[in-house]
Amino acid sequence: QSVDVGLFLHDIIDRFEMIAEEKEITFTRKIPAKPTYAKMAADKMTQVIDNVISNAMKYSPEGGNITIAMLHQGHQLQISISDQGMGIPRESQAKIFDRFYRVDKARARSVGGTGLGLAIAKELIHAHKGEIWAESEYGKGTTIFFTLPYYAMKEGGR
Ligand code: ATP
Ligand code: MG
Repeated sequence: QSVDVGLFLHDIIDRFEMIAEEKEITFTRKIPAKPTYAKMAADKMTQVIDNVISNAMKYSPEGGNITIAMLHQGHQLQISISDQGMGIPRESQAKIFDRFYRVDKARARSVGGTGLGLAIAKELIHAHKGEIWAESEYGKGTTIFFTLPYYAMKEGGR
């Protein structure tokens, strides 16, 4: 199944914007207008992006900004979700993709979750021959990157 990733991102961000109003979180979209297709099942794509954006929201301060960017890199598409939240200590940055791993207990208590979201995202991305990783500065913010095999333009959508 091929998915128009840009369209997908916009739909998901629209949905999050409604929830985010309460916390006064703003979204910035850096998404090319030209249709860009990736080989991935739509429901799985939604699951990955939902997970990453809801983390960004959970760990963002009131009034924070979340930037979602998409770019081509050769045969891959790179998607990134950046927040201005509390960040993740360097030693935890690889572990957040492990099942049930949560950075610290205080954080775990104040914001709900099971610690499965990113483990599932990683499995789904790997199943599609992509990669997923985090870059974060503790106290400043986090960016989650992932790649997907990029597909040449296709006519007529799905
Ligand atoms: P679930 O997704 O199952 O509801 P969760 O959000 O705690 O629970 P993950 O999405 O797997 O689990 O994330 C694992 C941990 O990584 C989180 O508990 C949190 O400590 C840390 N983390 C993830 N994303 C961010 C982020 N954007 N900023 C700061 N910490 C993060
Ligand atoms: Mg999560």
